Amino acid sequence: MDCQRDQWAGTGSGALFLRILAKQFGSCKQKKPLPLPLPIHLKISYMSYIEPAPIKDRENPLESMMKRFDLAAQILGLDESTYNVLKTPTKQVIVGLPITMDDGRVRVFEGYRVIHSNVLGPAKGGIRFDMDVNIDEVKALAAWMTWKCAVVDIPYGGAKGGITCNPREMSAGEMERLMRAYTVALLDIFGPDKDIPAPDMGTGPREMAWLMDEYSKSHGMTVNAVVTGKPLVLGGSLGRVEATGRGIMVSTFAALEKLKINPYQATCAVQGFGNVGSISAKLLAERGLKVVAVSDISGAYYNENGIDIEKALAYRDGNKGTLAGFTEATLIPADDLLTLEVDVLIPAAKEDVITEDVAHTLRCKLIVEGANGPTSAKADAVMAERGIKAVPDILANAGGVTVSYFEWVQNRLGYKWGLDRVQRRSDRIMKDSFERVFQAANKYDVSLRIGAYIVAIDKVAQTYKWRGGF
Ligand code: NAD
Repeated sequence: MDCQRDQWAGTGSGALFLRILAKQFGSCKQKKPLPLPLPIHLKISYMSYIEPAPIKDRENPLESMMKRFDLAAQILGLDESTYNVLKTPTKQVIVGLPITMDDGRVRVFEGYRVIHSNVLGPAKGGIRFDMDVNIDEVKALAAWMTWKCAVVDIPYGGAKGGITCNPREMSAGEMERLMRAYTVALLDIFGPDKDIPAPDMGTGPREMAWLMDEYSKSHGMTVNAVVTGKPLVLGGSLGRVEATGRGIMVSTFAALEKLKINPYQATCAVQGFGNVGSISAKLLAERGLKVVAVSDISGAYYNENGIDIEKALAYRDGNKGTLAGFTEATLIPADDLLTLEVDVLIPAAKEDVITEDVAHTLRCKLIVEGANGPTSAKADAVMAERGIKAVPDILANAGGVTVSYFEWVQNRLGYKWGLDRVQRRSDRIMKDSFERVFQAANKYDVSLRIGAYIVAIDKVAQTYKWRGGF
């Protein structure tokens, strides 16, 4: 079998795809030409050169994302002008934020906001507080949001923001002043019809409450639709906390059905036991899957008879948020979880864990990506060769942004939905989106991942063409 061929896909324009893929990633059958013999004077310097220890196949997850974007754009036959429009951020803002620290000194922080696209509607994306935040990262994360919103067909463009800072070293007062200063600096950017922030790494409901309050004061009225991920009492939505894990559960069931795997006999391993991982594990276990392994930063825990997820949750919550010391399962090396023989593997901890090397050792049938960017682009080709399927991040974990969208809708309506309505509507969006992506993957004879990018790019490109440029 050709290593690039995807078994889910029908028999469509496969040849075109193979040519493009081979150009992008190189064919897995391709052999490097043997080096010519070196002249003697060169042999000495060649031999004395010591190659640095190989770094594992670490690929920047954002570069990986752009490789998939490029591939999908080529398959779609996107014209060069539209390709350039879709790749280029609409707006990039960098602000200096002078903050009086608790010791009386003034420190200046750098803050960023990038709107990648507002073609589909107001831009949507989180605010990250982290020392590694920089304009390039924010640009790439903003593009990621554009594709994610488009794939689940919600009327948002993509954005991201951040401040280079270390929230762990800051007091609550310093954090509050920083968040309020950032909001004031970006008053012209934010707005319920323009750009709607949300929490990301290092920020949460508390920071969103400060943002909402500062924005509202500046406008002389309460504007809760300017931000999502707020505390419930300020207009947050019921179901938001569980939304991403619930979307993973819906995606897993949809994919198992296509693969004709009986969920009641299926086994599952989940990497990460935070918001996404623990809720995915809980919802899947409640619906009959046997979750044989879970992990967090303290290690991986395996029980071939299935882990009692309720017990694991109760243990974690009473143990400072960690599974360390959990005795209802056997402690195994953390990375071993990824290569267990299970039907479903859910990486829900961090990016770039399924590298090319790991992909060769996987023993699962299906990967459902809870984290953003857990699989490298190089691993895609190996997984295709080995017949391992993946529901990609921009589809699988989009339940979170979907319920954020519901929060915004409720704020604008001035009406609160019950949990049942939130869940029914988000489940339907996740199921419909899975089906759309599945159909696109079949039509173009590609993986679900490339199918998802095709759906997203096609939607943004078509909308852009109708709206027109200058
Ligand atoms: P979290 O901080 O609540 O949980 C992360 C979990 O991963 C923790 O249990 C941590 O101990 C564990 N972990 C960290 N490093 C690990 C390692 N090397 N091995 C095993 N476990 C490890 O974060 P979260 O909100 O659950 O987010 C997880 C991922 O999902 C991130 O990539 C995030 O960007 C993505 N995501 C989250 C949401 C959301 O709504 N929370 C939405 C979309 C995507």
